[in-house]
Amino acid sequence: NTTKKIAVITGGNRGLGFEASRQLAKKGYQVVLTSRDEAKGKAAAEKLQAEGLDVIAYPLDVTSEKSSQQLATFICDEFGKVDILINNAAIYIDSQTGNNSIFHTKIETLQQTIDTNVYGILRVTQALIPLMQKQNYGRIVNVSSGAGQLTDMGSGIPAYRISKTALNALTRIFASELKGTNILVNSVCPGWVKTDMGGQDAPRTPEEGVDTIVWLATLPDGGASGGFFRDRQQIDW
Ligand code: NDP
Repeated sequence: NTTKKIAVITGGNRGLGFEASRQLAKKGYQVVLTSRDEAKGKAAAEKLQAEGLDVIAYPLDVTSEKSSQQLATFICDEFGKVDILINNAAIYIDSQTGNNSIFHTKIETLQQTIDTNVYGILRVTQALIPLMQKQNYGRIVNVSSGAGQLTDMGSGIPAYRISKTALNALTRIFASELKGTNILVNSVCPGWVKTDMGGQDAPRTPEEGVDTIVWLATLPDGGASGGFFRDRQQIDW
């Protein structure tokens, strides 16, 4: 039990999820760092604990409804509420298939990508939203990408693009349903960031990449909802 605000991060074991966990814990949140591989999550949480931060690990595979429900039960029993949910976990498997054309993309690649990057967010949010609604407070940050922007839609990496466009739609629908409440939900593009996904040529550090994520996660009451942001600025869908 804690009097601190509770922040849940998906895919917290590495990359942007790990850095967002660190930054939110530094701001005084009790962080629940989740990961699909239990050992990796534990190791990541221990690293942050060694920095003196309040971070605990819990296993969560966003492709599993059972796993999402188990997380909700754990948090309900342990803390009784959720203040922040960062839907960060995602896969980017177009690049692994060696195919970059929508005309040759395997339906299985789309299904797998959407299962993690879209349905994964839906499963976790459905499981945790009651723990925000009961206190009428919550900040949900969906980590999206400029690759999903309809105004500037390019070709290549089709499964990833479609998943992020769909995620942005999900953000809008969540926000519409939550209108009038103190639960704010937004999408964010972190920019091109040096992580396993972004690669070593990316110009941004993870710390720079999470700036807008953390900013949206800590918006004051009456802040934006249903928006898409990069560098703390609203961008086109
Ligand atoms: P990484 O590939 O470095 O990390 C992805 C994280 O997601 C890992 O922790 C991974 O776990 C986790 N994950 C994948 N599948 C699942 C699953 N089924 N259940 C739970 N966790 C899962 O990516 P980044 O940190 O770079 O990206 C984070 C977010 O930022 C993503 O949403 C990405 O699309 C977005 N983004 C990143 C950009 C960049 O340049 N890096 C640019 C634009 C958007 P595991 O370690 O087990 O694989």
